[in-house]
Amino acid sequence: MNWLLAFSMKAAVLLAAARVAAFLLRRSPADVRHRLWLAALFGVAILALPVRFPQPVSIGVPVQFSITTLGGALPARVGTGVWPLWSALWIAGILVALARLLAGVATVAFWTRRARRLNPTQMPRVLVSDLAATPLTWGVFHPVILFPACAVEWPADQLEVALRHEQAHIARCDWLWQTLANAMNAVFWFHPLVWLANAGLRREAESATDDMVLASGVDAADYAEQLVRVARFLSGTLPLATVPMARSRILESRVREILDPLRRRGQASLATRAAVAVLACACLVPLLAVQEDPALHAVWNAATPAAPAPPQLSEPAAPAQAAPSTIVPPRAARLQTDTAPQSFAAKPEPVSASDPGVVIPRPIYKVEPTYTEDAKIAKIQGSVRLSLVIDELGRAEDIQVALSLDPGLDQQAVEAVRQWQFTPGTKDGVPVPVKALIEVNFRLL
Ligand SMILES: [Zn+2]
Repeated sequence: MNWLLAFSMKAAVLLAAARVAAFLLRRSPADVRHRLWLAALFGVAILALPVRFPQPVSIGVPVQFSITTLGGALPARVGTGVWPLWSALWIAGILVALARLLAGVATVAFWTRRARRLNPTQMPRVLVSDLAATPLTWGVFHPVILFPACAVEWPADQLEVALRHEQAHIARCDWLWQTLANAMNAVFWFHPLVWLANAGLRREAESATDDMVLASGVDAADYAEQLVRVARFLSGTLPLATVPMARSRILESRVREILDPLRRRGQASLATRAAVAVLACACLVPLLAVQEDPALHAVWNAATPAAPAPPQLSEPAAPAQAAPSTIVPPRAARLQTDTAPQSFAAKPEPVSASDPGVVIPRPIYKVEPTYTEDAKIAKIQGSVRLSLVIDELGRAEDIQVALSLDPGLDQQAVEAVRQWQFTPGTKDGVPVPVKALIEVNFRLL
């Protein structure tokens, strides 16, 4: 959840920057903006590459003083049970979107199998299909151009224009880029800016293809008329996995662009391509740099100030008493006063929290331990008990593992608690080091 949120925000920043850049480059050739959207979408993919799923761990209440349990407010619960629901929803969305994409490929493959050659002697990959409603192309290594059945009656010049359009798509590898963008859309279906970027990519690909056709010498008015004529036969929805000649949704703007004599056409120069790449990297690098460990976040505990230690404070539990049934009670984690003599070498001698006149420390800054990959794989759950001294400044010192769970998780617990900050314990109003036991619960959701 944390990872997804952080990723979504970074992707939003990147895609918003691309949107602004596309607007600023609105007078440039469509090919430039197409490359811009491609770079932005690749950037989003790179942001997602170090896929770090949120730690499926609920720390519950990692540490809880007995005194707080008795009457004060509980520290904020920092674990989350929302992640599994979110992950299920996310994965379900991915599966639906990928199924739609694969169904598109299967459909167009089926059309291709049922198609016949347009010209039996030439152009083996140019076919006529009774099922295709518009000229379209698909495929990477052996791209196929499909014409609708009515194309056999088209005049030669009309056929030629349509052919040039689809060949331009092939030359630009538009099917490949569009399919990759669709796959990204499937993975990040929840992100509206990914949808908008995908739509922008598709629109600019069509415009750039139109520019290529016009650059080949086709008259703009004839070409626009041809597009409208093709669009007249459009019916139903096209499979997602195709690059068609005409889509009714963007037809009007394309015709307007085709007929615009002032419009800049042509392909992006090498310098422009390099500039787009540099721009994309310039946006991407800072976003990558702020990748933080999503599982670590501090909790400031605004609980009521510590009251004098009540007599109910429990005796320290012996390590052997940690029965499995106590592994994950919601409020089980606790700090127990330690009355047993210990071998701490702190100076001055730490006091026990049950000593008369002692106000026990209270955590005010906590860092969650993280699950190790090994422990996750082995599904290790349970408690790590740490004995420590909280010094006069509220720092955790002399941390020792009193009850081990797993070497990796022990280490994680020690590392986390080492960063905790407490209110200093006092005895008769004077800050003193206090002995403590802390249990850290690890639970897989
Ligand atoms: Zn097209």
